[in-house]
Amino acid sequence: MKVTEHIENAKGKTLFSFEIIPPQKGKSIQELYDNIDPLMEFNPPFIDVTTSREEYIYIDKGNGLLDKKLTRMRPGTLGICASIKHKYNVDTVPHLLCGGFTKEETEYMLVDCHYLGINNVMALRGDAMKDEQSFVPKAGGNHYAVDLVKQIKDLNCGQYLHEVIDTDNKADFCIGVAGYPEKHLESPSLQSDLKRLKEKVDAGADYVVTQMFFDNSKYFAFVEKAREMGITIPIIPGIKPIAVQRHLQVLPQIFRIDLPEDLIDAVDKCKNNAEIKQVGIEWAIQQSLELKAAGVPFLHYYSMGKSENIRQIASQVF
Ligand code: FAD
Repeated sequence: MKVTEHIENAKGKTLFSFEIIPPQKGKSIQELYDNIDPLMEFNPPFIDVTTSREEYIYIDKGNGLLDKKLTRMRPGTLGICASIKHKYNVDTVPHLLCGGFTKEETEYMLVDCHYLGINNVMALRGDAMKDEQSFVPKAGGNHYAVDLVKQIKDLNCGQYLHEVIDTDNKADFCIGVAGYPEKHLESPSLQSDLKRLKEKVDAGADYVVTQMFFDNSKYFAFVEKAREMGITIPIIPGIKPIAVQRHLQVLPQIFRIDLPEDLIDAVDKCKNNAEIKQVGIEWAIQQSLELKAAGVPFLHYYSMGKSENIRQIASQVF
């Protein structure tokens, strides 16, 4: 079922969903299942599976020289989506990236999704590679998420890259896109970023999932501005619990988000990681309860492959 259909069927009730990242290459999928199992009691209608960009690794050739090779550390997004869908009988949402993929590769991925009965996808640009100053699309790839949305929307109409296919077996993807309550890090202003979001919506996006935020007022203001701009599709808040001291530095650095002073103070007072984890859980519970009371369609949790804190939050909220 489409994410938007889950929202319609819920008739105003807030639903639970979460996001996982594929295991590192060579690791077992069992670890992923062990983290998904405890969350199934909260009946997630869908689970997102992220896609990681390729990166360069340097292999010692043994003669003092290094070989530069391109590799993907966490492959397997679509395989994981298929296996979770089959094992748990839930919808899965693979993340599709512009970065690192040609339009043809994206088309084949969409064809695979269609065969697998996966009819929700998240359309994302992806970040620049580690050694790039700014995002560079792969030759023959989409540049912005809006271009990827257009490609998916075309395919829904039977318009493939190089041919129009008139068939009864058309795909009908429900398309999610990213939104940034504190603006995307490259954007000159929130207003300008919202205009870009509107372009994604006008191109055919069906729902938005937000970047993590720790101050609900940022989300509420974002939704209000988006509505004023004519964006009427569901805007699903993304929640991530703080789990370690390092999050105070890396989350603002990576995502250019602000952390509330009260949260920073509470983490600073902690004597160990267990206490920090507890602060993160309690903060996320408060955030979730307020968002639920405001009638958000879903609470979407960034699990980063660990479910214990998400389970504790969900048990207080759902
Ligand atoms: P876009 O919507 O293309 O926007 C990127 C930037 O370009 C913005 O600053 C925007 O304002 C600007 N822009 C957009 N269109 C134009 C235009 N026509 N001209 C000029 N500027 C423009 N990353 C991963 O690698 N894998 C994942 O699985 C993943 N999942 C994510 C899930 C969610 C819910 C979120 C919020 C983010 C996720 N990301 C993921 C991170 C995401 O890929 C990055 O934030 C990326 O830098 C931007 O992606 P986007 O889809 O928002 O890009």
